[in-house]
Amino acid sequence: MSYKILEEYTQEYTEEIKDSYLSILHSVGENPERAGIVKTPERAAKAMQFLTQGYEMNPKEILLSAMFPEEYDDMVIVKDIELYSLCEHHMLPFFGKAHIAYIPNGHIVGLSKLPRIVDVFARRLQVQERLTHDILECINTTLEPKGVAVVIEAHHMCMMMRGVQKQNSATTTSGFRGEFQKSETRNEFLRLIGK
Ligand SMILES: [Zn+2]
Repeated sequence: MSYKILEEYTQEYTEEIKDSYLSILHSVGENPERAGIVKTPERAAKAMQFLTQGYEMNPKEILLSAMFPEEYDDMVIVKDIELYSLCEHHMLPFFGKAHIAYIPNGHIVGLSKLPRIVDVFARRLQVQERLTHDILECINTTLEPKGVAVVIEAHHMCMMMRGVQKQNSATTTSGFRGEFQKSETRNEFLRLIGK
């Protein structure tokens, strides 16, 4: 998956976030003047803006920009979409894969747009449940397909690094609308993504 690098940072936000990271460094007992980390507050401020750039983006517009009339009405699946987000409870990463399917209803969408809307919603503070729901509803209300399905499997650093659960436990969330509420269609999708 290609990542658009955020080239322009808002100077005002960079300064604000930089100050916050500076006080975090003080609070954890670091010396912010130490050579290795003297530029860390600014780097971290830019990284944080990159990781939350989804707030500035409109996922519906992204889908609408690449919707085409088409009579194809079999299941369209994009699986193994890489996903990186930040949990809103700890501001630590969670990451994994998203699998999306839809059954067109007169329109299809450019396939590269599905990973893009995953990014738009993932680059905000999230919980995995809402991320799944946001993607599902965005496709459902914009493309108005006969059905849509989203499955996300993710590892949460807030669990892994803090030792709350076993290191390799993954959390799976899913949502189904329309035709995918029928078990036959849903099972075919789950089989095709290897679940
Ligand atoms: Zn968390």
